[in-house]
Amino acid sequence: MEQTESTNEAVEETTNLPALTAADRCDICGAQAFIRVVLATGDLVFCGHHGTANKDKLKPIAITWQDETDKLN
Ligand SMILES: [Zn+2]
Repeated sequence: MEQTESTNEAVEETTNLPALTAADRCDICGAQAFIRVVLATGDLVFCGHHGTANKDKLKPIAITWQDETDKLN
């Protein structure tokens, strides 16, 4: 009798956040958002400028830092 070992496929840690769209607006200036910051208290979205401006402050406490500023190019 053969024993079938259950292969433990690597559990992928996928942070499947929806991509930012034109409908996502910077919380500070209202421009199109390209950066989403997931905090324990909720999400913030920023334009490229304000994402960069707040990066030092928020990055250390962010659960996820979703940067889509490469879409700007
Ligand atoms: Zn902004």
